[in-house]
Amino acid sequence: MAIRSITEPTLDAAVAAIAVDNPATGAPITDVPTTSPDGVRAAVAAARKAQPRWQALGFRRRRALFHTSQQWFLDNRQRVLDSIVAENGKAEEEAVVEFIYCVSAFSFWSRRAKGFLKDRSVRSASPFVFGRGMHTRRAPLGVIGVIGPWNNPLINSFGDAIPALAAGNAVVLKPSEQTPLTALLMLEMARDCGYPDDVFQVVTGAAATGEALIDEADFVMFTGSTRTGRRVAARAAERLIPSSLELGGKDALIVLADAPLERAVNVAVHGALFNGGQTCTSVERVYVEAGIYDRFLTAVAQRVGEIRAGVPAGLGSVDVGAMTFPPQLDIVDDHVRDAVARGARVLAGGKRGEGPGRFYEPTLLVDVDHSMKCMREETFGPTLPIMKVRDAEEAVRLVNDSEYGLQASIITGDAHRGRRLAARLEAGAVTVNDAQSNYLALGLPMGGWKNSGLGVRHGAEGIRKYTKLQSISVNSHPTRRDPHMMPFEPSSYRLILKLVGFLYGRYKARRS
Ligand code: NAD
Repeated sequence: MAIRSITEPTLDAAVAAIAVDNPATGAPITDVPTTSPDGVRAAVAAARKAQPRWQALGFRRRRALFHTSQQWFLDNRQRVLDSIVAENGKAEEEAVVEFIYCVSAFSFWSRRAKGFLKDRSVRSASPFVFGRGMHTRRAPLGVIGVIGPWNNPLINSFGDAIPALAAGNAVVLKPSEQTPLTALLMLEMARDCGYPDDVFQVVTGAAATGEALIDEADFVMFTGSTRTGRRVAARAAERLIPSSLELGGKDALIVLADAPLERAVNVAVHGALFNGGQTCTSVERVYVEAGIYDRFLTAVAQRVGEIRAGVPAGLGSVDVGAMTFPPQLDIVDDHVRDAVARGARVLAGGKRGEGPGRFYEPTLLVDVDHSMKCMREETFGPTLPIMKVRDAEEAVRLVNDSEYGLQASIITGDAHRGRRLAARLEAGAVTVNDAQSNYLALGLPMGGWKNSGLGVRHGAEGIRKYTKLQSISVNSHPTRRDPHMMPFEPSSYRLILKLVGFLYGRYKARRS
């Protein structure tokens, strides 16, 4: 396959090429070159040169390009879906969600970016700056390095480039070495839509390519594991450049006794098995109040039994696709075996799936507890471990007993109670009577607490992070001299001190 980024990825002498296969069939798709550190340097240098022109285009013309991109997506829908499904192995319906995200993201940032980034006037109560006009403005950072994972080849890679571009930055994207093809398709999109040369580029490769990008970019938008995220943050810190880290999770679902049963079952099964559980916001553990536990379990077991897993072949063919990353299969299997060894029971699945590709059977685990890996470590696979709890208090305690804090969900018939409980959960995002759907609410910021990340995507903060803040203070009616200026006048300072006493001593006077 011919690949051309505006800066051609240079073949690394040590790592010649990345073999990309279809995880569901095991069939090779293509080889993709590894961009060497020199290639990354050249890409960032070209992006840096192109960025001022991109910024100078102004928001209106960038927005026009976004509208063209949106139309490109609609015109090329099946190519985008096929690319995601082929390299990732997910069901086509799950690729549709990535597609919808991007189409709606062009629209969202077109409508909202300007408002989020506009100049803001600031009032100061201090009499010492009386009469100054003050405001803040935001300027693009320059070149944003986006580093993405393999589980969502479009939204967690190119999706994060959209607000960065909207803010006037150039972007160099490094997709996961497991799934580079959809990012490369985005290069084609940018060329077809008439983006200026070098403003959006893709470099391909693994850790060394990512490290080289951190060494050159002005900001790193990283999505991936907590382990890698720590390394990325440390490397960025060496250069004193900011980074935003969207990391792993161990998302919990609480089912309260008053929950509408059908809704609880659907949210649990879909939340745990969507994308084969390979979603940062997958439901990875479920706590069910004793009052509804038996009925919930019976219904969940039946629903899991109805799930069709296998090779995706268009809409309606399967519910759960393949495991994208080969080592992930071992992790999932290890978590299931560890749980069984410690006393858990497998009610469905529990082993690798059959077929030419990489599969794990949708797996239902019960009698689990917090001594087990499946309740503490990120599994990132199609498993649904369910634990009975005495009451909501025990559920809250167990949800918070985790090193992760990405997302959590509560199912209840009492939305007000759900809202109150949400505020007690240690997670950056909480959904009541839903799971995951908040990702499509681009106005709602999303970011992990604890070891699940630093910073957010979406909302005002999701674009402001791609800018640097400048404060401007203008003295439009300057006097010849301010009282505090040199040479110091003792009488002026005595007056100033009196003023300080008057302004800030009132509280004491009132108390006494
Ligand atoms: P990973 O950390 O292995 O890799 C992520 C990216 O980092 C890849 O592009 C990889 O090539 C690159 N990389 C690896 N080492 C690097 C280094 N030293 N310097 C710079 N870049 C480096 O993660 P993964 O296995 O691809 O993705 C799965 C993980 O991503 C899971 O933990 C999942 O929870 C997380 N994730 C989080 C979110 C979120 O929004 N919080 C979304 C999707 C996935």
